[in-house]
Amino acid sequence: MSAPASLPVFPGTVDAAGRPATLGVMGGGQLGRMFVHAAQRLGYFTAVLDPDPQSPAGRVSHQHIAFAYGDAQGLAQLAAVCAAVTTEFENVPASALQTLAASCPVAPGAAAVAIAQDRIQEKSHFTASAAESGVMAGVTCAPYAVIETPDQLKTVPDYLLPGILKTARMGYDGKGQMRVSNRAELAAAWAELERVACVLEKMLPLKAECSVIVARGWDGAMVAFPPQLNLHVDGILAVTKVYEGNMSPALAARAQAATKSIAEHIDYVGVLCVEFFVVDDGSADGALVVNEMAPRPHNSGHYTMDACDVSQFDLQVHAMAGLPLPAPRQHSPAIMLNLLGDVWFDPLGQPRTPDWQAVLALPGAHLHLYGKLEARPGRKMGHLTLTGADVAGVKATARQAAAILGLPGFEGDE
Ligand code: ATP
Ligand code: MG
Repeated sequence: MSAPASLPVFPGTVDAAGRPATLGVMGGGQLGRMFVHAAQRLGYFTAVLDPDPQSPAGRVSHQHIAFAYGDAQGLAQLAAVCAAVTTEFENVPASALQTLAASCPVAPGAAAVAIAQDRIQEKSHFTASAAESGVMAGVTCAPYAVIETPDQLKTVPDYLLPGILKTARMGYDGKGQMRVSNRAELAAAWAELERVACVLEKMLPLKAECSVIVARGWDGAMVAFPPQLNLHVDGILAVTKVYEGNMSPALAARAQAATKSIAEHIDYVGVLCVEFFVVDDGSADGALVVNEMAPRPHNSGHYTMDACDVSQFDLQVHAMAGLPLPAPRQHSPAIMLNLLGDVWFDPLGQPRTPDWQAVLALPGAHLHLYGKLEARPGRKMGHLTLTGADVAGVKATARQAAAILGLPGFEGDE
């Protein structure tokens, strides 16, 4: 994709009509907030479109346009003030991005976001990209079947069970997913999901999970972060570890190459995250299987703000604005702990304030809270990144932080 004529847009400039260079984002959650912070640091003005008057990004943006994502008036307002627009979540209507694209550069584009919104389309692109690229040979997705009709339900092959039934659209953080061990459970689960379009994925024996974040420019130039090793608890990301030795170098190289070929295959512009499973196939390293992609910065890349010389949000700003994409360098080993609303409750379910005094005393602790006023179990309230001079030190501090906060999923880390 070649850059629109209006790019690059430089920060700190004012157009002929006297408007400051403004970057916009669809969605006002924490990812939008961290995007706004990165854009503002460079000197851009920002605009957020989100219907929620209390949205985390809306609160810190120069402008907050509180309209539904598909509302013509809201989109017109956003397009009128922005030199370029990006998105912070994949469920914005692709048609809204298309509308915006008629009047300003939009990255990622509607077509790429539409693919990521739909597991059925996403999987067929993974398969196509694997077929056309040498580097992705063997990196396919989990065996699956599409279930959109009662006939497709009946003819699901036996080898896909036990499996996970996932809605094709609108799933996140493990929502819209049901584990099924036999045909009766599968039929019941599909009924419970109201017979919307789904995929049934074979349940794979996971050794680990990882993700790779790349940023790709309008001219096709691409840079990548090192692969992140991720630990999920109850379908939600709990811990991300990024340091040398977090996974086998061969697997890391393959994951990076596969992510790049996916981004190229869909001519992606912006920050893209691809999630992988490391499947236990009896080999020492395990086999890499591609899970899904996010057309935006990702929770597993939050450590880049504190452990790299350029963050995933900085690169999101650069990519959309047509600025150069410097290759990121990780300068410190890092462990990120997600802070869900559960941390705001004691074991008896009574509300509490986490012991920030103790957390903030830890060396190399970087606390990020998203400005959400109500803590609810499972709600992403913030994250804590631990950095340090060496891996052993970072692990030790992360263990201390997890103990202070009562975080799950971090026991027994060597
Ligand atoms: P998010 O958008 O937050 O990443 P999601 O709701 O889109 O999550 P997935 O990434 O598809 O869901 O799955 C959530 C988690 O469930 C995975 O990270 C993995 O731990 C587990 N999981 C999903 N699919 C499989 C599978 N086929 N085999 C084994 N485990 C799986
Ligand atoms: Mg996922």
